[in-house]
Amino acid sequence: MDDSLQELYQAVILEHNRVPCNKCVPLSYDFHADGYNPSCGDKVSVYVNFDGDRVAALSFSGEGCAISQASASLMTQLIKNKTRLEALTIIDDICRGLSGEDVDLNKYGDVGALIGVRKFPMRIKCATMAWHTLKDAIRDA
Ligand code: ZN
Repeated sequence: MDDSLQELYQAVILEHNRVPCNKCVPLSYDFHADGYNPSCGDKVSVYVNFDGDRVAALSFSGEGCAISQASASLMTQLIKNKTRLEALTIIDDICRGLSGEDVDLNKYGDVGALIGVRKFPMRIKCATMAWHTLKDAIRDA
């Protein structure tokens, strides 16, 4: 692999794709939304349970490329236990960062591993899809 492909498929991404976190359809949930990225064929559905204003449980289902699945997995880890407003703020920050704006994604831990998509404009939607879908799910919560 050349350097930019290696940056795209960092070990964290490959591992989250291989063994995703919180990939399941829960028996019950408060909010749900579906996302689809036609340019790559990625699909994701997210399921959210709130405890008061806090995200008590967050899971996803779907299929697609390694970037899309790893991004959804990383998202469920990062957003759990956040308040709705905190979650929306983080989602906006991360989507701006992945789209190439000057945002330090490393402050979000392993999510920083997604940074490689910046060099592959076609793949940015693979990385941002889960986050946009979660935003759809909780915007009106
Ligand atoms: Zn994709």
